[in-house]
Amino acid sequence: MRIQIERVAPGNLKPKPDESALGFGRHRTDHMFVMTYDEGQGWHDAAVMPYQDFALDPAAMVLHYGQAIFEGLKAYRGKDDAIFLFRPLDNLRRMNLSAARMCMPQIQVEEVFEGLKTLVDIEQDWVPRAQGATLYIRPTMVATEAGLGVRPAKRYLFFIILSPVGAYYPEGFNPVSIYVTDTYVRAVPGGVGNAKTAGNYAASIMAAVEAKKQGYTQVLWLDAVHRKYVEEVGTMNIFFVIDNEVITPPLSGSILPGITRDSVLKMVREWGKPVAERSITIDEVLAASQTGRLQEVFGTGTAAVISPVGSLYYQGQNCEVNHGHTGPLSQRLFDELQAIQYGRQPDPYHWMVRL
Ligand SMILES: *Cc1c(COP(=O)(O)O)cnc(C)c1O
Repeated sequence: MRIQIERVAPGNLKPKPDESALGFGRHRTDHMFVMTYDEGQGWHDAAVMPYQDFALDPAAMVLHYGQAIFEGLKAYRGKDDAIFLFRPLDNLRRMNLSAARMCMPQIQVEEVFEGLKTLVDIEQDWVPRAQGATLYIRPTMVATEAGLGVRPAKRYLFFIILSPVGAYYPEGFNPVSIYVTDTYVRAVPGGVGNAKTAGNYAASIMAAVEAKKQGYTQVLWLDAVHRKYVEEVGTMNIFFVIDNEVITPPLSGSILPGITRDSVLKMVREWGKPVAERSITIDEVLAASQTGRLQEVFGTGTAAVISPVGSLYYQGQNCEVNHGHTGPLSQRLFDELQAIQYGRQPDPYHWMVRL
């Protein structure tokens, strides 16, 4: 794959934002990577070009039937100014799983990775230097064929945009309060819960808005059939520590196979802790809390890395976790994962790829 490169003229580069107030996704960089797919031709016209609007036909199929998938990963500025990516090939492989489920074309992982690296290399000044800040990378694929019939599109656009993002916890860990919903569900067996596809997030917004209105940060999702098995929290996978055992729901098809989840499982197994990937009901969690055996709850995902849960609200009852404080395992996972990601610590798992 040849990558055409068109650079923004030096005088037209955007001013870099203040690194102490980046937020999440508010700023985008100067360039993007794009390529086009046509049935019968495959992917073509790969290019790094100035960040700009797309022109889409109003009948573009993504706007009507939602064939849209995405990924999220980060570039970190480590020692000696070197730039590292965390498990990038796993994100691109997962994108192909999402693509298969949505009847969208496969990408060539190695080739797209070359495109991703070319883009990040051109934008390396955008990788923040502030502690905890990173360059968030958003690969996306959408159906662009114009047509109003419901079927797989024949034309797609793949693009990668970049956004410098601030530290998730600028003042240290802040355990979140969680609303356990038994009104809404995120995904159903046989559905698309294990694909990173746009519709899943559209479907989740109402529960999140209602939870926020009542003062909670995130929603905990239960399974759609029995409304009792724990699935995920917001857009993160979830872990419990009960009687010193680390428990997370299995990849049953309705939850997203998180790369942070997989990394946490590998680390806690390496540390010799008992680990179970098994179904767990919300009643089991609350019972463990009432008998003092629930030690920690935390979410895992690229954005926050580790997000400690301080309380769970379910059916009129509020259940505090570890007196609202961050537990020792959450803290250790956060510290060690970050140390690997920023290159402050050896990387025994070979997760980091140097740009
Ligand atoms: C992206 C995502 C996750 C976390 O996956 P990571 O690879 O760890 O970032 C978990 N749940 C949902 C619903 C997600 O979209």
